[in-house]
This record gives sequence, structure tokens and C-alpha cells, in this order.
Amino acid sequence: MRNEVETGQTYEEIYQKLFGILPPKSVTIGESNANIISQGRGFMEGFDLTMQLQVGCPGGCLFCYVPSGTRLTPNTVRGSDGQEWGFQVRNKKNVIAQLERHLEKGHLADKTIYWSGVTDAYAAPPAITQALWKRLQNSPPSLRPRRIVIQTRFRPDRDVGLIAEYNQLAQVSDSGPPVVVSFSLSTNKNEFIRAWERATPLYEHRMQAIRTLCEAGIFVVPTLSPFGLWDDLEYTLNLLKSWGVKYITCLFFKENTQSANTPSKFLAYLGHEYPFLLNKEWQDEQLKIMRSIFDKVIVGRAGFLSLCSPHEIISSGQN
Ligand code: SF4
Repeated sequence: MRNEVETGQTYEEIYQKLFGILPPKSVTIGESNANIISQGRGFMEGFDLTMQLQVGCPGGCLFCYVPSGTRLTPNTVRGSDGQEWGFQVRNKKNVIAQLERHLEKGHLADKTIYWSGVTDAYAAPPAITQALWKRLQNSPPSLRPRRIVIQTRFRPDRDVGLIAEYNQLAQVSDSGPPVVVSFSLSTNKNEFIRAWERATPLYEHRMQAIRTLCEAGIFVVPTLSPFGLWDDLEYTLNLLKSWGVKYITCLFFKENTQSANTPSKFLAYLGHEYPFLLNKEWQDEQLKIMRSIFDKVIVGRAGFLSLCSPHEIISSGQN
């Protein structure tokens, strides 16, 4: 089946194809009074809590499920048709004071936290993420969360020293890792990253981030999501394995599932340009490649839920 293809189109051209207008020229940054902590609901219900430091995400990925869920983010941030997604970002106010309050009230004690479900954890400003780890380090062990799962395709390795220190300090009630990084890799073809994701790091930068985190002893679960086109998928998987990655998860482009579906406009574009990405037979072939290298490749929602207790996956029969 066809695999070796190029986009031949820029982000602007694909955006225009999807929305019928040119993309906004710049990202509007504002502020939000919203709480940084919410209950884990919907597809995130496996976690006790979710944490978001921003409303909106500057990544601007055209396949992102967030703007297609009307309850996931406000209309002003996604636009009526999803056309504003990636161009409206509100930084939440008083993040560290809010964190402090939640810690002191015991809201986070021994909880599993998914950071973030509806924006990228590491799209947040560096000063804020640094202050967050420092505040967590200074909190009494009994008030700390059991596990923080960072979901990102940006650069959490900018905080690697702080994360590693916290990781070593924390004592976890279930003997699992205090911090897990679920790192999104959708392709190793940078032309697709440039064409489908407005402002996220290129493949080499993501791999460098994963390597740095692994070398610092942080539990990283590469998440091949949404699974795109790869040149030599085996090469990337073997590299990940050599860095100590224990298992991977995978999410194909999704249609007609209960939650977190790929937006319909992007699905229509894929159906026209790259239909094999939605083809079950092709997807099964890719899974065979993944399973030839990793014993455990957890697909779809099960992969997401595995992040709550990733250490148990390694010893379980689940694959
Ligand atoms: S980085 Fe993640 S949250 Fe942000 S637009 Fe891309 S897929 Fe959505």
C-alpha cells in the first residue's frame, strides 16, 4: 500500500483547504481565571485529576481532537468551526498560588494527575513549569500526588534536572514512577510535522527530548499518536528501545469513537489524500512492525489508561 508520499502542501494551504480562509497571522495570548485542576472526566476519567496551565494550545495541530469537542474548550478559543484553534491561547493566572492552595488543602495527595488533556503541558511558559516543579519539590511528601503524567509533543527536557530531582525525592504508594512522560511522536517525516502541526518541535528535537529524559531515569512512554507516515519505523523504535523505553502506545486517526475523535474536516482531507491512514489492514501491518520490536504495544484507550500505572503494564500479560 502507498506509504512513501510527501504532503507537497504547506500548513497554510491545508488550513485553507479545511476552513476556506487563510489562517490568522499571529497567535493572540490572553489570560484566564480558570482553575488549573479539574476532575478527570470523559476520556480522562482513568485519572483522578487533570491539570491545565493554559486554555488553548499554540501547537495548532490540524488533527487535534480538542477543538472538535465543544465541551473541551471555549468557543472563543477554538472558533465555531475549529478555525481559531492554535491561534488563541490564555495563560491561566496565579498558577503557582493555585497549586499551593491545592497542595495545602490536600486535594492532590496520592492522586493521579494527567497534565494535560486539552492543551500541551509543555506549551506553557518555561518560568511557570520551572516554578511548578520547585513548588512540588518543596511540598511535604504526604501532600504530593502519586503520579503526574505529562502529555506533550513539546520539550519537557528543558526541565529535566527539576523533574529528575522530584522523581527521586517522591515516595509513591504503589511503587510506580512519580512522573511519567507520555511523549507524542506521530511521524519522523518533518514535512508532515510542518504541514499538519503549526508550531511543534520537529522529529529530531522530540527524539532528543526523549533520550534526555530516559537518560535522567524518567519513565517515558512514547505515544505514536496520531499514527502518521513513517520512513523506517523500525529504526526509530529500535532507538527508543536502546534508550530504555519499556513499552509504547499507539493511537490511529479516529473516527466514530466515543471520544477524542479526529475532526471531521481533517478526516475528510485524510480520506482524500492518505486513505490508508484510516485503513484497518494498513494499521494492522504497522502494529506488526511495532510488535516485532516491542513486546508491549498498547493501542487506543487501553494505551491511554496504561499511563495511570505504567509499571504494572511491564509485568502484566497485556500487549
Ligand atoms: S500540541 Fe497537542 S493539544 Fe496542542 S494542538 Fe497539538 S495535538 Fe492539540
